[in-house]
Amino acid sequence: MDSPFWDLVTIWLARASGVMVLTGAGISAESGVPTFRGKDGLWNRFRPEELATLEALQRDPERVWTWYRWRRKKVLQAQPNPAHRALVTLEQWKQPHFLLVTQNVDGLHQRAGSQAVVEFHGNLFEDVCLQCGFHRRIESVASEDSAVPYCPRCGHLLKPGVVMFGEPIPEQALHHVIEFIPRTDILLVIGTSAQVYPAAAIPRWVKDHGGKVVEVNPEQTPVTEMADAFLRGPAGKLVPKLVQDAMKKQQVPHERTFSG
Ligand code: NAD
Ligand code: ZN
Repeated sequence: MDSPFWDLVTIWLARASGVMVLTGAGISAESGVPTFRGKDGLWNRFRPEELATLEALQRDPERVWTWYRWRRKKVLQAQPNPAHRALVTLEQWKQPHFLLVTQNVDGLHQRAGSQAVVEFHGNLFEDVCLQCGFHRRIESVASEDSAVPYCPRCGHLLKPGVVMFGEPIPEQALHHVIEFIPRTDILLVIGTSAQVYPAAAIPRWVKDHGGKVVEVNPEQTPVTEMADAFLRGPAGKLVPKLVQDAMKKQQVPHERTFSG
């Protein structure tokens, strides 16, 4: 690979005992799921404040739900890509000292086979009632389903199981991450524009605890400057190679010097 840091990163990864990975929409881009920001991002076509907020949902449920149903369909047509699969291999190698924190709501990491996944922003395939706590899992999106779902228990408007702008991060998710930070020797930041807090603060927390930060992205982000290494390029190409090369590094025995 063309980064001067490539070899170094594979050594860091091989030697790390605690590994955290933070992913964003970019890791699913090569599966055909549109990102929000960046080239071809959804925000170029839609305004977030019109769609991904509780106020918008209450004001215009039909419009907001049409958008989320469209996103569900897109994800159901998509398959995990080589980057998702490489993170499964990485987990199998490093577990139980491994945590995958995703801002994605598409469930593709789990479909690829990842186990230790923290969904920081919830999941697209859930309906949730903020009134009575009812929730259900969604397996498919039939075109005849009505666009706006209401709670079968109390009749209140349902909301998709994602964290909308202005909503807090699920407490359990934040707890898992904070607990793992001191054990993180290396954090891989893959395919996130690092604009949404508190997820965007995770690289800084890791650095403050002495861990290394490695970023994989075709474009620079606010993380790039603080990262110990920036690997420019698409996740589907770089992440499998990175994991593969790191595993090879581990297999090479340390050189010994013989005297006599
Ligand atoms: P974002 O859309 O803000 O940024 C996407 C990033 O991915 C950009 O930095 C872009 O340069 C990078 N990227 C594009 N193609 C890539 C590739 N092939 N390989 C690696 N990186 C690539 O995404 P974000 O930072 O996750 O945004 C935050 C919010 O977007 C999250 O809250 C998340 O819930 C939501 N979101 C999720 C999905 C999903 O679940 N798939 C899709 C869109 C948005
Ligand atoms: Zn209800």
